[in-house]
Amino acid sequence: MVGGGGLGTLVLLALFFLLGGGGGGTAPAPQNQGQGQHSGQGSEGFDLAQCQREGAVNEIAECRAAATADSLNKIWSGVLPEQANVDYSMPSMQMFKNDVQTGCGFATADTGPFYCPRDKTIYLDVGFYNQLERMGGSDGSLSQMYVVAHEWGHHIQNLEGTLGLSDYNNPGEDSAAVAIELQADCYAGVWASRADKGDDAMLEPITEEQVKQAVQTARAIGDDHIQEQSGRQVNPDAWTHGSSEQRQKLFLTGYQSGSLAKCDTLNRGAYQE
Ligand SMILES: [Zn+2]
Repeated sequence: MVGGGGLGTLVLLALFFLLGGGGGGTAPAPQNQGQGQHSGQGSEGFDLAQCQREGAVNEIAECRAAATADSLNKIWSGVLPEQANVDYSMPSMQMFKNDVQTGCGFATADTGPFYCPRDKTIYLDVGFYNQLERMGGSDGSLSQMYVVAHEWGHHIQNLEGTLGLSDYNNPGEDSAAVAIELQADCYAGVWASRADKGDDAMLEPITEEQVKQAVQTARAIGDDHIQEQSGRQVNPDAWTHGSSEQRQKLFLTGYQSGSLAKCDTLNRGAYQE
């Protein structure tokens, strides 16, 4: 039902990373209260031990996100130094329900998934996936992975030193904010282009249907679509993430090329083909 081959190994690695067992190595010390213990905090935390059961990754959204995180770490640790000449270090990922205290302040699930550069942590309430469906997104596996991979894209931008260019107080079609968001979509595509390749591929071959689901989701969260859905007029001057068309295009650009140079929405010219 779901692309997710070789998941036995995958899940164990993901657990190692998320439970803080891999806290040394290349992971930056988190500055939030988590200190590398990114699961089971409080009564609302998610216990990743459940993910060790066979098939859990295909059935439990949190386990799929954890597996995606592991795949992202593996792929970016190769791609980032190779194509951008930047060393990779892992972000943390914290799954929460309802609300969470972060290095960037208190946040509720309404915010949607986000990356906090101050504690280099991705925050995800998988309840967002339901919201995504209501917005017209897909509930397919690659669609959910795309959401995680997009947030990872912001961590990559943080490592590249460009994330700070994003200024959501100055929105608009041609703004740096939109360029940064579209690049994160493209980076998600770069990840997807590699996640099912090679001997130790972490996903079964991605199908056309799954790509369509990711695209459907990218379109659903386009600024113009969100404006339409909320009964507002489409107003490019207020865009912060890019149109449906642009988001679809950039995800596919990354997916089809696997190349950071093709994702260079900031025109930095800093990438090797
Ligand atoms: Zn984003």
